[in-house]
Amino acid sequence: MAQSIADRRDQDFLLHEVLNISDLSKHEIYEDFNKKTIDLVVNEARNLAIKEILPTQEDGDKNGCVLVNGQVSPPESYRKAYNLFCEGEWVAMCDDPKYGGQGMPKVLSMVAGEMFTGANCSFLMYPGLTHGAGKLVEEFGTDEQKRKYLKNLYTGKWAGTMCLTEPSAGSDVGALTTSAKRNGDGTYSISGNKIFISGGDHDLTENIIHPVLARIEGAPAGTKGISLFLVPKYKIKPDGSIGERNDVECVGIEEKMGLHGNSTASLAFGSKGNCVGELLGEENKGMKAMFVMMNEARLGTGLQGFGFATTSYINAVNYAKQRVQGTDLMKMFDKNPESVTIIKHPDVRRQLLSMKAYVDGMRTLIYYTGYLFDKVKTAETEADQAKYKGLIELLTPVLKGYCTDRSFEVCTQGIQVYGGYGYIQDYPQERLLRDCKITSIYEGTNGIQAMDLLGRKLGMNKGKHFMDFLGEMNKTIAAAKEIDMLKDMAARVEKAVNRLGEVAMHMGMTAMSAKALDAFATAHPFLDVTGDVCMAWFELWRAVVAAPKIATAKKKDEAFYVGQVKTAEYFTTYVLPLTFGKMDALTAGVPAIMEFPEEAFAG
Ligand SMILES: Cc1cc2nc3c(=O)[nH]c(=O)nc-3n(C[C@H](O)[C@H](O)[C@H](O)COP(=O)(O)OP(=O)(O)OC[C@H]3O[C@@H](n4cnc5c(N)ncnc54)[C@H](O)[C@@H]3O)c2cc1C
Repeated sequence: MAQSIADRRDQDFLLHEVLNISDLSKHEIYEDFNKKTIDLVVNEARNLAIKEILPTQEDGDKNGCVLVNGQVSPPESYRKAYNLFCEGEWVAMCDDPKYGGQGMPKVLSMVAGEMFTGANCSFLMYPGLTHGAGKLVEEFGTDEQKRKYLKNLYTGKWAGTMCLTEPSAGSDVGALTTSAKRNGDGTYSISGNKIFISGGDHDLTENIIHPVLARIEGAPAGTKGISLFLVPKYKIKPDGSIGERNDVECVGIEEKMGLHGNSTASLAFGSKGNCVGELLGEENKGMKAMFVMMNEARLGTGLQGFGFATTSYINAVNYAKQRVQGTDLMKMFDKNPESVTIIKHPDVRRQLLSMKAYVDGMRTLIYYTGYLFDKVKTAETEADQAKYKGLIELLTPVLKGYCTDRSFEVCTQGIQVYGGYGYIQDYPQERLLRDCKITSIYEGTNGIQAMDLLGRKLGMNKGKHFMDFLGEMNKTIAAAKEIDMLKDMAARVEKAVNRLGEVAMHMGMTAMSAKALDAFATAHPFLDVTGDVCMAWFELWRAVVAAPKIATAKKKDEAFYVGQVKTAEYFTTYVLPLTFGKMDALTAGVPAIMEFPEEAFAG
């Protein structure tokens, strides 16, 4: 069975009927992006994903990366795909054309990203990290650094990485020990070991630029004393050409559960005392700079998780429509009951609808957040701009945490729908699950995301971002109340939004009280219910757009629109009641978590 990726009809519905992104073309900076151009970009991305990236999946998973004499070779099939990816100028789709970008709306990078990661995430990580490194140079680099690095990164001629993690500095980045010593000529000697560096070494490009967090000798302990350096694999000559090898060595690559096609490298910086780096941004302000990259990477990681879910879902639907097994439950006592495809079985339908509800909801959350970036750029007033920025701040940990957790569950269901065939390697479902797992761990584990939501984002700007979030949801509820078919649904979502407001207030107050630990012990379930209510909001929004079109739609579209309303009905009648239960548990408190004696866990 040929594999597929993201549901194109649903992508178009979201872009053109729900978000109406071609409205962006009214603004000067996006005037070229009318519906026709947008569709062209989506078509091109889809072609590349299906024809060139999807076929690299098996090679990546089965053959993985190889380390010989300190040099990593990625799976062979990645080379052609990488070159085509760069030729198509996909690395910096949304960035400034003066630096080699294409100046597209950010929302389009989410759409393309869904298809690219859904086709093969371990491949996409190479150009994805390269873009992140470029963004750092664009934001914090001097003119000289931009000239030296940016175009080469944004065109994919050189690759980039992100070097934070060390054996004793994982979630606690401030514990890092990599050091930097001033050389007196403006450069620094870097010394230390980084582990788990994605795309840390490979030969897809002529050079790799490593943004490295390190502490300048004498700098304060913790995150306050961290600076950011650019450390090239090959030194760069004054004329911009490649010079001698820098003292950065790949000393190992990890054997891991998934993402085999992406090298996860241990890098030794300065083991021969000759690793030269240059400061990016100000001394001791490295974390601030790195947060720019991490925020982008968090959205990217949520998108990665989702890419696996959307592929797993579309595979499951296609499989369920073809696999013949068992008979219609209502005809099981017939003499010779006809065998049916498994999509006819109620339990399979339940699973598919659950997968669809999360996939549709997550797609909306991801595209909507991408669109908020475009709205920041095109806002008419400063107040609007601040509002959109605030919504991005608030939604970032939700998007990363919720989408990666739910996507893993969707991938699990994606195996279940296939039965035994889902568990074996002849089919893609087990790989999608394996690849997906890391997304809830890297870029700040989901536990850290939950703490970010509760400890920082909820109270940010005196709670205004959260209030704006509730306000946006209430707009959709008001629109739904105007449509007869959706009145009950609107009431259910309204109740959930109001209850979420109460829960947030309770959690925020508890986090600032003597019971702070109890609040943080349930930060993750709080992120979870926030995500659930988001899903309900977005599905209601979809239903508001779809419901009025049902009566006049052509047959195929009619089914699609009915599907939107039914998905929202399913989620609000079946999932939301569970969310209410979880919200009640959060306000009641779960003191047992912190009261539990450590010795009693085991032993
Ligand atoms: C395949 C792969 C690719 C990676 N790519 C990169 C990369 O490109 N660059 C890079 O720098 N790193 C990378 N990493 C590292 C990754 O970001 C870290 O593994 C992650 O940040 C967690 O750190 P840790 O593994 O040390 O776990 P720990 O920090 O030891 O965490 C263990 C557990 O404790 C919890 N925990 C820790 N501290 C807290 C706290 N304060 N409060 C609550 N809970 C806490 C965590 O949530 C987790 O459940 C990669 C890792 C892998 C496996």
